[in-house]
Amino acid sequence: MTSIVQGACCLLGGVVVSLAIGAPPHALQRYESVGPHMGTLVRITLYAASEDAAKQAFRSAFDRIADLDRILSDYKPDSELNTVTRTAVQHPVDVSKDLSVVLAASQALAGATDGAFDVTQGPVIRLWRAARKTGRIPDPAALTEAESRSGFRKLHVDSRQQTVMVDQEGMALDVGAIGKGYAASEALAVLHEAGIRSALVAVSGDLAFGDAPPGQRGWRIDLHDDDPALASVPRVIELTNAAVSTSGASEQHVDAGGRRYSHIIDPASGMGLVNDIAVTVIAPHGLDADGLDTAVSVLGKDRGLALIESRPDVAALIVQRSNGTTTATMSSRFSTLIGGASPATPRASSRPGGW
Ligand code: ADP
Ligand code: MG
Repeated sequence: MTSIVQGACCLLGGVVVSLAIGAPPHALQRYESVGPHMGTLVRITLYAASEDAAKQAFRSAFDRIADLDRILSDYKPDSELNTVTRTAVQHPVDVSKDLSVVLAASQALAGATDGAFDVTQGPVIRLWRAARKTGRIPDPAALTEAESRSGFRKLHVDSRQQTVMVDQEGMALDVGAIGKGYAASEALAVLHEAGIRSALVAVSGDLAFGDAPPGQRGWRIDLHDDDPALASVPRVIELTNAAVSTSGASEQHVDAGGRRYSHIIDPASGMGLVNDIAVTVIAPHGLDADGLDTAVSVLGKDRGLALIESRPDVAALIVQRSNGTTTATMSSRFSTLIGGASPATPRASSRPGGW
């Protein structure tokens, strides 16, 4: 029988090795590494033939994420995102492929949601970020001024020319709702190129994963913590070759006047969301999973579900709490995915090559 000895717990950036004693030579072993990136923790789990192969793969994947952080960060003044927003006022500026892809996807989602998803809300989002520090909701006059510098129709992305233009000075782009999912799937692609097929990249709550761990049916994804109100939803599902993002579970919020305002804002009002909604989206790529979880949170259950159903390659679980009642709504693809599974029973994907 094979016994598993877990290596010592890792420090940040360390590598944990799970040694399979008695395993045949050259069998794949499990390695894990955690590092701080994109203002959060990134955890990569992978199966490789040797520690050297694992270390090299970790380096390439973390390098890719660090590159994306330099491109997409709204905190770093010299990120490509911030530089372009300053320099591309009323004339198109060449951008990297990554920035073009992320902003084009953002604009497509803004169009599909009538601006409920909107990466030009940077000025408004910054006011809410300050509100989380002071504990006071933003001043209405400041919000009106910030809204005058926001609006997805003021951003122009030409994917073919790979250029970006903004209409006015003082705009601020924020891809916090879509960039982490993109980074997770892109890091997974780097691992894939290095010959590693079985891996999971977690950029905070944005997950991207490939083939199942050896001997298993999929990667175990926790959907909830045994919440009795969610008895119809399995606690854990097992999936392969997909991305999963969850919105709404964040601790980032401001409590004021007896209400809890989310770090997700409704561009229609400039206010942080007050609906208690948690959205989990499964999609082939994290770019879609991450963007959609935020979009559905803003749209709410009915319009959000319609958006998900319009995308045949996407599944979603929407959990809403109001007046002490919890309701779980599943998209049709999500229901199919868990069909037949009893609560808390993992179910493996039957589709070859995905989910
Ligand atoms: P998390 O970052 O907690 O995983 P999300 O993916 O929903 O959650 O991203 C939330 C972030 O998205 C916010 O911190 C903010 O930067 C940005 N954001 C907030 N509201 C919107 C919106 N309506 N459209 C696009 N981005 C938003
Ligand atoms: Mg998101």
